[in-house]
Amino acid sequence: MIIPIRCFSCGKLIAHIYKPYLEAIEKGESAEDAFKSLGIERFCCKRMIVSHVDLIDDLLKFPRLQ
Ligand SMILES: [Zn+2]
Repeated sequence: MIIPIRCFSCGKLIAHIYKPYLEAIEKGESAEDAFKSLGIERFCCKRMIVSHVDLIDDLLKFPRLQ
């Protein structure tokens, strides 16, 4: 849905990393280099970003159910 603000396991702030990570991947940078340059070291934080599926823009097309 929306990228979580903090890592579920260690509590590190990760929400501000998501867009720069996607931009780095689009430029052709490897995921490992992108994480290094963005300061993400632990695998718990990496899995938060790698496994995230951004669905919020798709869901906003539908009216709210009541
Ligand atoms: Zn973490």
